[in-house]
Amino acid sequence: MQFFRDLPLPVIGGRPGRDQVPPPATLVGVRNHEVGVERLLESFRAIPAGAPVRLAKKTSNLFRSRAATDAPGLDVSGLSGVISVDPQGRTADVQGMCTYEDLVDATLPFGLAPMVVPQLKTITLGGAVTGLGIESTSFRNGLPHESVLEMDVLVPTGEIVTARLDDPETAELFRAFPNSYGTLGYATRLRIELEPVEPYVRLRHVRFTDLTALQDTLAEITVDRVYDGVRVDYVDAVVFTETESYIVLGEQTAEAGPVSDYTDQHIYYRSIQHPEAQTPKEDLLTIRDYLWRWDTDWFWCSRAFGTQNPRIRRFWPKRWLRSSFYWKLIGLDKKYDIGDRLEARKGLPPRERVVQDIEVPIERTAEFVAWFLPTTGIEPVWLCPLRLRETGPSVEARKDQTGPALHPWTLYPLESDRSYVNIGFWSSVPIVPGEPVGAMNRRIEAEVAALDGHKSLYSESFYSPEDFAAMYGGDDYDRIKRRYDPDARLLGLYEKAVKEK
Ligand SMILES: Cc1cc2nc3c(=O)[nH]c(=O)nc-3n(C[C@H](O)[C@H](O)[C@H](O)COP(=O)(O)OP(=O)(O)OC[C@H]3O[C@@H](n4cnc5c(N)ncnc54)[C@H](O)[C@@H]3O)c2cc1C
Repeated sequence: MQFFRDLPLPVIGGRPGRDQVPPPATLVGVRNHEVGVERLLESFRAIPAGAPVRLAKKTSNLFRSRAATDAPGLDVSGLSGVISVDPQGRTADVQGMCTYEDLVDATLPFGLAPMVVPQLKTITLGGAVTGLGIESTSFRNGLPHESVLEMDVLVPTGEIVTARLDDPETAELFRAFPNSYGTLGYATRLRIELEPVEPYVRLRHVRFTDLTALQDTLAEITVDRVYDGVRVDYVDAVVFTETESYIVLGEQTAEAGPVSDYTDQHIYYRSIQHPEAQTPKEDLLTIRDYLWRWDTDWFWCSRAFGTQNPRIRRFWPKRWLRSSFYWKLIGLDKKYDIGDRLEARKGLPPRERVVQDIEVPIERTAEFVAWFLPTTGIEPVWLCPLRLRETGPSVEARKDQTGPALHPWTLYPLESDRSYVNIGFWSSVPIVPGEPVGAMNRRIEAEVAALDGHKSLYSESFYSPEDFAAMYGGDDYDRIKRRYDPDARLLGLYEKAVKEK
């Protein structure tokens, strides 16, 4: 059934309910976008020379602390929508602070979706491009910045620069933007590629009792894009213990059927588990529920707030089952030190947060996980394979580039034709008296480096300046930073990612 594919017009109406995508979101339009940009520029000009420049933004998915400041931030209130969608060209012009929730609501009615949709609804397009989002399409579509065709960036001199990979003048800004975390400027508009999607995703949960077998199967699927004769459109994995892990395979389908609902009483990550190593468990979700399957319980992190207890969940308002609400609870915990106070009442030591996403070459996955599980006691762990994109305009454009950096993306070196696995873990461990601050996070950094891997910079980091420079762009970053931020109006990447506490 040609439900979504190649439809030029929004699909509205039909059977209301769980398999129906919402009506198209209101598009912002070019004129309103210009007004939003003007408001941003006015707020920039109002910041005294020499004062720090920061975003004034309602939501965040950054885990590291930011230094408190009374300085007025940049007004991005007019930059949170989708400007336009071109269903024929399969592109969208999107404002920098548009959340993926709003972006997906604007594209799904056309039967289209961004090439990579990070799991948390309030992650913004600008945030995912500058902070390296990842999801279960990353084995075929790479990371979110690889489907950006061009972007307008407010650079710290106050100009808006339109950066493109095929423009020699601005290509180095474009290539250094991913993983720059707002230290080179702020994206105000991004033109992105979209891909066609079907209304449903059929899932297979394949169980493994051995980490090496899991790793090897993941490596094959990442290259072949097929498992047991069936096409694979989406792939991620969850490790519960060394002897219980699952690869979750998704296939887009137009074929309707009874769909599961994990936005209410049932919990998605628990639905993956089953006893049969030989036979995969199957499931069907609407495309929208598939894209947001991890948001409802913030993977499994809602466990910490008691919402997985059926007696509590029954009375928990549904609108609070989303990652942005848990963020508010984390904010309260940080402000009032609630967790450590509760631990102290039980006579237990305070805890160190271990909230990280790291990535290693795929052949080192089992080694890392086998080290990580007993060392930290943290489970479950999320795995997501990724490869740099092999086709598409961004690949074509970078073939002609002979920039100073050896790799296409200056601040996060990944090799072409190589598979990696992102490994995410979001929990805490007891602090051992006498150990340095961040002892477990430091141990993880060392292990990741030993396995030829890298770490995302959204959370705490403890690298020395030398190690950091070697991993995240070094001299190339310094040169580009001097070019676009000669007066150091924005923090540097090391100051922001490692030093700012
Ligand atoms: C617990 C946890 C789990 C995570 N899991 C995932 C995951 O599974 N998948 C995934 O894809 N990502 C994940 N992330 C990472 C997340 O994608 C990045 O932190 C991303 O940068 C957050 O984007 P945001 O829009 O919320 O931006 P913010 O949190 O508001 O900002 C992040 C950084 O980006 C900068 N920034 C924001 N907007 C712009 C812009 N328009 N232009 C330039 N710079 C900008 C800010 O200055 C800041 O330094 C996770 C993060 C956390 C804390």
